[in-house]
Amino acid sequence: MSDKPDPSDYNTDTLAIRWAQLRTDEMSHSDPIFLTSSFVYNSAAEAAARFSGEQPGNVYSRFTNPTVRAFEQRLAALEGGEQCQALASGMAAISSTFFALLTPGDHIVSSRSVFGTTNVIYDRYLKKFGIDTTLVDLDDLDQWKAAIRPQTRVLFLETPSNPLSEVGDIEALAKLAHDNGALLIVDNCFCTPALQKPIALGADLVIHSATKYLDGQGRCIGGAVVGPADLIKEVHGFVRSAGPSMSPFNAWVFLKGLETLGLRMKAHCANTLELARWLERQPGIAKVHYAGLESHPQHALAARQQSGFGAVLAIEVVDSDGNADRQAAWRFIDGTRLLSITANLGDVKSTITHPGSTTHGRVNPEEKERAGITENLIRIAVGLEDIDDLKQDLTLAIKALGF
Ligand SMILES: *Cc1c(COP(=O)(O)O)cnc(C)c1O
Repeated sequence: MSDKPDPSDYNTDTLAIRWAQLRTDEMSHSDPIFLTSSFVYNSAAEAAARFSGEQPGNVYSRFTNPTVRAFEQRLAALEGGEQCQALASGMAAISSTFFALLTPGDHIVSSRSVFGTTNVIYDRYLKKFGIDTTLVDLDDLDQWKAAIRPQTRVLFLETPSNPLSEVGDIEALAKLAHDNGALLIVDNCFCTPALQKPIALGADLVIHSATKYLDGQGRCIGGAVVGPADLIKEVHGFVRSAGPSMSPFNAWVFLKGLETLGLRMKAHCANTLELARWLERQPGIAKVHYAGLESHPQHALAARQQSGFGAVLAIEVVDSDGNADRQAAWRFIDGTRLLSITANLGDVKSTITHPGSTTHGRVNPEEKERAGITENLIRIAVGLEDIDDLKQDLTLAIKALGF
């Protein structure tokens, strides 16, 4: 152990509960929440020193806030990164990172199976500023290689992917990025640092939608980016000026969420694996997509780079007359009683959605087919309800298919 406490002294679950605890003179055991827009000074000279940056400290909560800072330090420790910048949402984290680090003429290579709104940022906004994106299949390293140009500055992926649970090889892609003078950015929303540490595998930056598992109970919107100090400084500069800062109240909720992250993720993974195996044996389920199943083409890679397989699975359904279409999928979804019909995930409550008409509803048919978003595909984000009750609810859904 080093003289000064260092994240490397502790394991992930301990860091998630205790790292960067915020202590004031009152010594509250739970992290205090600083609901204040601005901060005051003892003198005009001190105000001047703070504003000039000569004296470190808080000025205004668009720049820094102690509760937000505690969340940033804890997440940085969990991801094994130097620093973290918290943001108002996962999309604010993604877009601010791009706007802070890229300039016109730069090029991005991204897996096509990223969060839908990330594609909107590529198509509608980055393009407008002269930044081009090439989309490739997450699991095909040759496509990534072929897409690289001299102007490529960023390789971006999300693994495992939503909703099909495809897995990208972070180590191989980090090497490819670095061989070509580019950065590897990984959206680690689905695994969280409890299951996957992209920086240890070579990634430069890790992105989070804190809205999902970091909160864990579907209460707040937030995001973060973690990485080396020089890159986070750039993102911080952008956030200070552009203003997509995280609210201190939300930071406090996320700190509370982090305290149970390890426990929740273990329970999420256990429920999901059992449900995936059970679904594989049920009538009306033509296919189960989940990297935790031996039948998954990248099961070995997932087992190598993740310490758990996550809590999102997808199924392809077929009714008793052999129809594998949208009607069958909708009947299945409407047949459930307990599951929430919603596109959100990362919640203790299980959710069910039809990607083809919700999360991927605006994707054109060609791109949908390429991405494997078939009409009979259903995504389930498995929560922490009793597994027998989840099976009972999905049995009702299977009955709705005519079985
Ligand atoms: C939800 C999500 C986002 C966007 O996060 P918001 O907090 O909704 O802005 C980004 N990436 C992934 C993988 C997500 O699931």
